[in-house]
Amino acid sequence: MIDMPRCTSCNKVISPSDEGDTRFSCPNCNDVLIIRCPKCRLFGNQYVCPKCNFKGP
Ligand SMILES: [Zn+2]
Ligand SMILES: [Zn+2]
Repeated sequence: MIDMPRCTSCNKVISPSDEGDTRFSCPNCNDVLIIRCPKCRLFGNQYVCPKCNFKGP
């Protein structure tokens, strides 16, 4: 069973067919994969790194 990726901001499951999501390593600790759904990108919702608590737009 594979963990579905979830948006770091709103916790929504990102389905593989979703387009426009973005994934990147945490700019602070570089250890956590930050995933943002298209909606959170659009609204500029804040994300918090679960490891180092880095907050970013
Ligand atoms: Zn989201
Ligand atoms: Zn981090």
